[in-house]
Amino acid sequence: MWIDTHCHWDAPEFDLDRDAVRERALAAGVQRFIVPAVQACDFARTQALCRVAGQPYALGVHPLYTLRAQEEDLALLDASLAEAKGDPLLVAVGEIGLDFFVAGLDAERQQFFYAKQLKLAARHGLPVILHVRRSADQLLAGLRRRPVRGGIAHAFNGSRQQAEAFLDLGFALGFGGALTFERSLNLRRLASELPDSALVLETDAPDIPPQWLYKTAEQRAAGERSRNEPCELPRIAQTLAGLRGWTLAQTAAITSANACRVLPKL
Ligand code: ZN
Repeated sequence: MWIDTHCHWDAPEFDLDRDAVRERALAAGVQRFIVPAVQACDFARTQALCRVAGQPYALGVHPLYTLRAQEEDLALLDASLAEAKGDPLLVAVGEIGLDFFVAGLDAERQQFFYAKQLKLAARHGLPVILHVRRSADQLLAGLRRRPVRGGIAHAFNGSRQQAEAFLDLGFALGFGGALTFERSLNLRRLASELPDSALVLETDAPDIPPQWLYKTAEQRAAGERSRNEPCELPRIAQTLAGLRGWTLAQTAAITSANACRVLPKL
């Protein structure tokens, strides 16, 4: 069984064929894909979609949505987590984190929402799904101030030292489409050297297309779309299998076991 630990199946990119996307995932052996919400006004809809499909989900305010987020959104998150306490499909608080790559965001505001959401995760006894972009050290500092029960550092692309710091705090690291590019030297080195227990797989669909779906800036300007899907996970996993010297069956077993360890409700 494959688990896609990060898939925005609730995104508008899937509005026209959401059921077909799920069916293709299931047909490819991706029985579970975790859907992290990105903003409070989506919580109820994401939850409803996932409950109908029987797929796991997380609730949180994504760092790229903090500019439009309100403080009341944190109260709604708290209430939604309390309401879903007995829901086996609620597996984490996420997607939360910090993004110091995208221009025009307010660093202090991101830190505010990150800290508050770590506190909520701890209060509700849930792990977190972290968005990490040029922000690993600041995320780690936050986790040391407000400890949680681990989780996943998604689309990780930091240093070996930062990777180990996340592992020490009970996290696994999410690897996906970026791994399929030969020029991803740092990422490929990390994915081949880290301990088995560190690795989980993800697509981040509809984003982070693997090499075979990638469109250049010119192609995109000409209107060509590149939309990633959870059914791509087994093919992405072939790259990880190659780097580790694992069979595909081993890759599925190890990464699925890791996902279940860091997100126990899975
Ligand atoms: Zn995401």
